[in-house]
Amino acid sequence: MENSVKLRARAKINLSIDIKGIFDDGYHDVEMVMQSVNLSDYIIIRKAEKGFKITSSNSDVPLDKRNIIYKTWELLREKYAIDSGVSIFLEKNIPIAAGMAGGSTDSAAMFVGLNKLFSLGMSEEEMLEESKKLGSDIAFCIKGGTYLATGTGTDLKKLPFLDRNIRVLICKPDIFVSTKRVYKKFDFMYEENFNPLERPDNKLLIEGLQEKNKEKIVDAMGNVLEPVTKSWCKEIEKIEKTMNKFGSYATMMSGSGPTVFGFFNDYRSIKKCSNVLRKKYRQTYITSTSDKGVEIYGNK
Ligand code: ATP
Repeated sequence: MENSVKLRARAKINLSIDIKGIFDDGYHDVEMVMQSVNLSDYIIIRKAEKGFKITSSNSDVPLDKRNIIYKTWELLREKYAIDSGVSIFLEKNIPIAAGMAGGSTDSAAMFVGLNKLFSLGMSEEEMLEESKKLGSDIAFCIKGGTYLATGTGTDLKKLPFLDRNIRVLICKPDIFVSTKRVYKKFDFMYEENFNPLERPDNKLLIEGLQEKNKEKIVDAMGNVLEPVTKSWCKEIEKIEKTMNKFGSYATMMSGSGPTVFGFFNDYRSIKKCSNVLRKKYRQTYITSTSDKGVEIYGNK
C-alpha cells in the first residue's frame, strides 16, 4: 500500500484576459486564454496517523489555515470522512501573488494527490466540479495545456496547444499585488466608459491557435488588467522594455500581475536577457510552454 505521493504542479500564464462585464453577484465576466508553463511547485503528501502538517522550502508561504493546500485537505477530508492525517512538503518555486496561479495549482495537486493516496475514486469531472468551491483557476490547473476560460473563469474549453518549443522568460518584480485590488481599480477606471485599453482579440487568438499562425496569435494577445497594475508598478514597463530589447516577440503581463513574461526564439537571447534581469529581479526564470497540468511524479 502506498503511503505517499509526489506531484508536479505547473504554473500558468495568460495569453489573454478580457473582461466583458460584471455579474449581479459582483464576479467579473471574463474571457481569457490560459497556458500552462513548466515552472512548477512540487508537493509530497505523506499519510500520517492524524492531523495536518505542512512544511515548505519558501518561508513566504503561509503554513497555517490560510494555505489553500490546507483548505483543499479539509474539503476532501470532510467530504470523504478520511480518518487519518497528512504531512505535506511544498517545494515552492512559482512566484507568490504573481498572477501565475501558484496557489491554485497547489490545490489542483492536492485534489489529484489525495484522490490517489486515499483511493477516493473521484473522476476528473468530479474533481473539476469540487475545485470550484475553492477557486476559479484550479480546474484549469488540474487539466493543463491551452484553454479558453469564460464566465467567472470556470467554464473551460480546450484549445489547440500553443507550441511545445516556446522559450518563456518569467520575471516578477518584488512588489505585492492583490488580485482583489486590481479588479476593484479596474471597475473604478472603467465605471463610466466600459472600453478597457489593451483589449485582446480572443476570436483572432483562437483562430491563430487553430491555424498555428504565430503572427496572428501574437497580434491578438492582450491583458485588460495590465494598465491597472502598471499604474502602481513602474517596474512592469521596464521589464517589458528589457525583454523586447533582447528579442522577445510577445511580451505581456500575466493575470493580475505583476509578473511579466516574454517569448523567445533562441536560447542565447533568452539567457542573455535573463542574466540582465536577474541582477535586479531575483525572481527571474527561464521556462517553456507545456500541454500538461498536474502530474503524479511518483511515490516518495
Ligand atoms: P492567481 O494567478 O490565481 O491570481 P496568484 O499568483 O495571484 O494567483 P498566489 O500565489 O496563489 O497568487 O497567492 C495569493 C495569496 O494566497 C498569497 O497572499 C498567499 O499568501 C496565499 N496562499 C495561500 N496558499 C498558498 C500557496 N499554496 N501558494 C502560494 N500562495 C498561497
